[in-house]
Amino acid sequence: MEQMTTRCVISGGGPAGLMAGFLLARAGVEVVVLEKHRDFLRDFRGDTIHPSTLRIMEALGLLDELLALPHYPFRHMEFSFGDRAVPVVDFTPLGERTGFVAMMPQWDFLDFVAQKAADYPGFTLLMRTESEALIEENGRVTGLRAKGPAGPVEIRADLVLVADGRDSALRDTAGLDVQDLGAPIDVLWFRVSRTSGENPESLGRLKDGSIVIQLNRGNYWQMAFIVPKNGAERVRAEGLAAFRRRVGAATGIEAARLEEIDDWDKVKLLSVQVNRLQRWWRDGLLCIGDAAHAMSPVGGVGINLAVQDAVAAANILAAPLRNGTLSVDHLQQVQKRRLWPARVTQRFQVFLQDRVIRPALDKPDAPPPLPLRILARVPYLRRFPARFIGLGLRPELPRAGEVAPGDAC
Ligand SMILES: Cc1cc2nc3c(=O)[nH]c(=O)nc-3n(C[C@H](O)[C@H](O)[C@H](O)COP(=O)(O)OP(=O)(O)OC[C@H]3O[C@@H](n4cnc5c(N)ncnc54)[C@H](O)[C@@H]3O)c2cc1C
Repeated sequence: MEQMTTRCVISGGGPAGLMAGFLLARAGVEVVVLEKHRDFLRDFRGDTIHPSTLRIMEALGLLDELLALPHYPFRHMEFSFGDRAVPVVDFTPLGERTGFVAMMPQWDFLDFVAQKAADYPGFTLLMRTESEALIEENGRVTGLRAKGPAGPVEIRADLVLVADGRDSALRDTAGLDVQDLGAPIDVLWFRVSRTSGENPESLGRLKDGSIVIQLNRGNYWQMAFIVPKNGAERVRAEGLAAFRRRVGAATGIEAARLEEIDDWDKVKLLSVQVNRLQRWWRDGLLCIGDAAHAMSPVGGVGINLAVQDAVAAANILAAPLRNGTLSVDHLQQVQKRRLWPARVTQRFQVFLQDRVIRPALDKPDAPPPLPLRILARVPYLRRFPARFIGLGLRPELPRAGEVAPGDAC
């Protein structure tokens, strides 16, 4: 079995894990990130780089380089209820350089962060390496066991950072209690090609009992069709033709283009979960991102929170990791800092799920809820949801780095 020793081993190369790995390496901490897939190419994940993340990239001096990658800047969001358009979010007051959500395939963003991290000698990324079990000694987590392309690996570390998402096996084996906050909806994801004459803004559409979100991905729409919890089977039983008709009725996309959805294999089910760990840490282990608090796709803020957790974790943990003085107090501090934003954001998601989305599925003819009607009438107010969605609560910025790219660790 291959043996490694490092300061911090991170399970999961998603937004939380890669960003934490990058920032820790930049702060002079030796870090190993494990990602079970061979690449970051996975479809139907969040593709939203929020103003808060843009500000982090700006603080790191990487914003222009990031935005040189193909992306679509999404500055406004509107919902349509039947045939009535209701504009609700305006990101532009958040600044010229960062007042938009950059719609960018998540794999491009993760490739970018991984590339930048690789400039630091303390950073190691092991792809096709799946963490499987914790190593514990006297009640303390001291590392993990993983399976890599060349066989089993054992990695000892002062800290195991668990950032492997909502289905994290490590958080289960760590015995941390999960509080389920409930999700009355599931989402069917699929894509439909986009024509040049269409409104490029991302839209939410509620019509005839269907809710469809359309996200502009350049030459195609990434579409989310919301169904009641466990309602996907019923939609499937009605058949593909009926599904295409419902999508067409809600979006106005013509039938010929919807013929692209010719197999249920092209329609992926996301079982929505909203949950949170009661305690995010144990001696030697800390969970961040979806592993600590699985977010609903409502509002598209999961990546935002995952990246913010990573920045807070790196800010708080870099010095004690570097000096070998890490204690549970430091882990507790990370939870204390990030719990409030996660809790309030989840409450907001659960509120929207229960009070806006679920009633709209049950009562298709209901008018837009009052808060949305007010936002539609008073453009000035649209900056407030933009702030909440775009920056989140308690936005984080990275501390100055300790090493320059290419320096010896
Ligand atoms: C279909 C879908 C659409 C979404 N849409 C949006 C959106 O538009 N905007 C938004 O902000 N959020 C969205 N979200 C939520 C968002 O994707 C998550 O909140 C965010 O990705 C969490 O980041 P993370 O790094 O914590 O976890 P993840 O992104 O889940 O990353 C975890 C990583 O760990 C890896 N991994 C898992 N297990 C192991 C293991 N044992 N060993 C090694 N590696 C492992 C996984 O392969 C993955 O790369 C969506 C989620 C889904 C599922």
